[in-house]
Amino acid sequence: MSLQVMKNYINGEWVESKSSTIGDVWNPAKGEKIAEVPYSTAEVVEMAVKAAKEAYWDWRTTPPLTRARYLFRLKEAFEENFEDIARVLTSEQGKVIDEARGEVRRMIENVEHATGVTTLMCGYTMEDIATDIDCYGHPQPMGVFGAIAPYNFPGMVPWWFLPYALVTGNTFVLKPSEQVPMTQSKIFDIIDEIGFPEGVVNMVHGSRDVVNAMLDHPDIEGISFVGSTPTAKYIYQRCGETGKRVQALGGAKNIVAVMPDAELDAAMPSLITSFYGCSGQRCLSGAVLVPVGDVADTLLEKFMTAAKEVRVGDGLNEQTGMGPVVSAAHKQRVLGYIEKGIEEGADLILDGRDCQVEGYPDGFFVGPTIFDNVKPDMTICKEEIFGPVASTVRVNDFDEVIDLINTRGFGNAACIYTQSGATAREFKYRAKPSMIGVNIGIAAPMSFFPFGGAGESMFGDIKAHGQEIFKFFTDTQVVIERWL
Ligand code: NAD
Repeated sequence: MSLQVMKNYINGEWVESKSSTIGDVWNPAKGEKIAEVPYSTAEVVEMAVKAAKEAYWDWRTTPPLTRARYLFRLKEAFEENFEDIARVLTSEQGKVIDEARGEVRRMIENVEHATGVTTLMCGYTMEDIATDIDCYGHPQPMGVFGAIAPYNFPGMVPWWFLPYALVTGNTFVLKPSEQVPMTQSKIFDIIDEIGFPEGVVNMVHGSRDVVNAMLDHPDIEGISFVGSTPTAKYIYQRCGETGKRVQALGGAKNIVAVMPDAELDAAMPSLITSFYGCSGQRCLSGAVLVPVGDVADTLLEKFMTAAKEVRVGDGLNEQTGMGPVVSAAHKQRVLGYIEKGIEEGADLILDGRDCQVEGYPDGFFVGPTIFDNVKPDMTICKEEIFGPVASTVRVNDFDEVIDLINTRGFGNAACIYTQSGATAREFKYRAKPSMIGVNIGIAAPMSFFPFGGAGESMFGDIKAHGQEIFKFFTDTQVVIERWL
């Protein structure tokens, strides 16, 4: 297979980067290099922002419904290319094809939600705020926005922002993760076919230098970021220094509590997907399993039996239940955390380290892994592993669950399994994470609700998608008017 070489998309054209820094893109199931991504130079970033800036005024003065019509066309084109996008996504990221399909569906849902602009971008008015004086506030677009994306959802995450930025009248520069640039390249091929006005939507590639060029660019009004907590913190600080709007979504360490009254058999499929879906590389993945009271032994027995049945393999095979992790380096990182867990005294009761997949000797596979008797201050209970590793912390009562959740720095998501409405209510009332699951293992909000966490899981005020995102991409101009 010939190697694909990624290009930038600027001003409606595919532009080669002259960079000497070239990243490799891998098929993680095969452990095989499948593409190269030349990182953009400062000049290329400058070209992209300039194109977006020049396109802004015409796009801003295009009526919102006309802007939305581009999205309607995009939605249709995405539906036509649905399977192709999902397959590219699995090839470079590794997740199983059904997960990739789910991701593409979520991406399209954001396009659909953004078309509600004529309702969701409306302002408000009041007559007679004083004698003969009227007042109105109308949201206006602001200019050029940028987004920087992580590797785990190469299709969906950029679309938590892009359609909303465009439909509200801004122009856009996207930087996908350098580890998985192929999915957005496929998507930008479709954007190219739809024929957005030149410069309205642009894409550059690369890593931290490209990010820094975007963060420091005076013509970028705001940045949407999703990635790990240290990078999110950095982005937030740097945008503060340069006066940009910013929403920076970071990492997670999600706790999944199981009460003694939980319906264990009914819960098992979603528990397994929570911990092992996307090989644990999901900001909403279950990371810490918390059986409360005497449910622990039965829960672990059932959980272990189900985990052993997860079929690890190539995500493109429809029979596969869990794919590889994204890279050789990330595999080593996950294995390092497993070693650390053993070293710190947790009991490794299911060991996924030596995971062999027939026909895929070079794949970056880690099998489902379970630790028991993990203590709250152990590294594997505090840090984000981002792999298929469940750390079990046994607790005696509900209050201990809440303590455990609210003393993690992260505050992305938490889930509880119970049959008691009163317990569920107490849980959502007292737990600080922003996304709560009740008898649901992955509390993933759909595009019309906000997505984002609390504490170390998010820096900034406005979350991804939902109704709030329309505020991120607009400035409400207030007009106070008197006619004599
Ligand atoms: P990452 O922070 O390594 O990279 C994210 C993006 O930032 C990439 O585009 C990368 O090029 C860029 N980047 C990396 N280091 C940088 C630096 N020092 N300076 C400037 N830019 C830099 O994250 P990742 O490994 O790609 O993604 C996994 C992480 O993302 C996990 O921590 C996961 O929890 C998190 N995530 C969070 C959410 C959420 O909604 N909160 C969603 C998806 C992923």
